[in-house]
Amino acid sequence: MAETENRPTNFIRNIIDADLANGKHQSTHTRFPPEPNGFLHIGHAKSICLNFGIAQDYQGLCNLRFDDTNPEKEDINYVKSIQEDVSWLGFNWDGEICYSSNYFDKLHGYAVELIEKGLAYVCFLSPDEAREYRGTLTEPGKNSPYRDTSVEENLALFEKMRNGEFKEGECVLRAKIDMASSFMVLRDPIIYRIRFAHHHQTGDKWCIYPMYDFTHCISDALEGITHSLCTLEFQDNRRLYDWVLDNISLECHPQQIEFSRLNLEYTVMSKRKLNDLVVENHVDGWDDPRMPTIAGLRRRGYTPASIREFCKRIGITKQDNMVEMGMLEACIRDDLNNNAPRAMAVIDPVRIVIENFEDGKVEQLVAPNHPSEESMGTRELPFTKELFIEREDFRVEANKKFKRLVLGKEVRLRNAYVIKAERIEEDAEGNITTIFCSYDPDTLGKNPADGRKVKGVIHWVSATHCVEAEVRQYDRLFNVPNPAAAESFVETLNPDSLTVIKSAKLEPSLAQAAVEQGFQFERLGYYCRDNKEEGLVFNQTVGLRDSWAKIEQA
Ligand code: ATP
Ligand code: MG
Repeated sequence: MAETENRPTNFIRNIIDADLANGKHQSTHTRFPPEPNGFLHIGHAKSICLNFGIAQDYQGLCNLRFDDTNPEKEDINYVKSIQEDVSWLGFNWDGEICYSSNYFDKLHGYAVELIEKGLAYVCFLSPDEAREYRGTLTEPGKNSPYRDTSVEENLALFEKMRNGEFKEGECVLRAKIDMASSFMVLRDPIIYRIRFAHHHQTGDKWCIYPMYDFTHCISDALEGITHSLCTLEFQDNRRLYDWVLDNISLECHPQQIEFSRLNLEYTVMSKRKLNDLVVENHVDGWDDPRMPTIAGLRRRGYTPASIREFCKRIGITKQDNMVEMGMLEACIRDDLNNNAPRAMAVIDPVRIVIENFEDGKVEQLVAPNHPSEESMGTRELPFTKELFIEREDFRVEANKKFKRLVLGKEVRLRNAYVIKAERIEEDAEGNITTIFCSYDPDTLGKNPADGRKVKGVIHWVSATHCVEAEVRQYDRLFNVPNPAAAESFVETLNPDSLTVIKSAKLEPSLAQAAVEQGFQFERLGYYCRDNKEEGLVFNQTVGLRDSWAKIEQA
């Protein structure tokens, strides 16, 4: 068995431990069953880490299965993106990729078996009538007039459905269970419906498609799944899951166990809502770095390890709750703090001229890539007469709290020298165009010989050797913690969620940054090279400190 040290414990793993201990199962077999109707989001990551994590820790198996019974809403591009995201998160599915549509023949056979047993019938009630017959939570339903059609006739009608002899919506196949059940899902649920739709896997072979509840349990059983883990909204559906498997000739009967879904503050998770954001152009596609999708988080600079760590920290329970965004950000901040190389970038530059530094001279300073991880090596930083610093790091006058550059005072340039601001030049509007400084050549390194106490340290780049890049700064996508609860969630979008800085000045080493490589831009935050744009574009991943706490108070 794999190492047990860092294993999470939760109620599902307790069930599995017991099932293995008492011999109900010899090994585990889980599955992750996305519907290919959108990109995966951080909520799916919770399910992925749970299902694949169990397979890893118990040396069991985990399938990737596309639950593809809704051809109109599905797309082969979603199928591809889902595979890519699961792999990127660091998980491998066992065997071939599975599709519910692989089982359409078998599912059809089990539907016929139910009809033969008098447990399913073709029903011609219109949707409105069916709703009326269904009853309510407080009142029982009524039997459909088609409920007692003979087995022979039902077999013939179902065959006609299959052959395309009925119109879409004209009839459905329903399981014959109990119209008075306190579980609405057991009031003769639909198990097959007519759809003249092209399917991304089966083409035009079928014009009848099985419903989710009928498909899912049978797919699980056909794959020999031991524990079928799903989110809480399927709690009632478990009765139907068990009813179907109890009434068809399939030996395997997986155990469905529900856990609470992940809800994250200041974002939405439903694929329908995410799709609206994409289609209505509120964001730049499913992989927009502001999206809570795996592809968006990846583009934003999240690492697979940080997402897995997040899923570990939130745990698995049956309690519905809302997780703070700060929790997700803490995971990537911890990761990048340890693993991201440092670099310098100036996003709102003001020019510095070091008057006592030789014209045209380039001094290659050496800076460590990480303050404590020596193994991360060093890089060269060209120091020249003209530099850029952040505009906000200079004041003509300031009190002692301002530990940056002030006219007539000194500051240390990170990884370089101490400079003193001597005089400024302004344009007609009074904007500072240049700060003329002097530098002290004896102050290079961490312990300057002069022993002078210079508290402030600011970042800088060479004005002649820097590279220009576009930097995209992000704020929360929504202005309210629970946009899904708003009447119109689109109205709660934050109009300032993206700020584009067209020409930030970056130290030259960043010109070679690999895509998706994260950096700490010193004093600014964590950034990563965009994985889509051709040019030099960096996305802000997260700030250096938790900024969400502030929002809560505001
Ligand atoms: P959505 O409501 O976002 O469209 P879904 O449940 O319809 O999601 P599926 O593709 O059917 O999406 O989900 C695949 C698996 O991921 C299911 O087992 C589902 O329970 C799980 N899952 C989906 N959303 C979450 C979530 N927010 N937290 C945990 N698991 C989730
Ligand atoms: Mg679904």
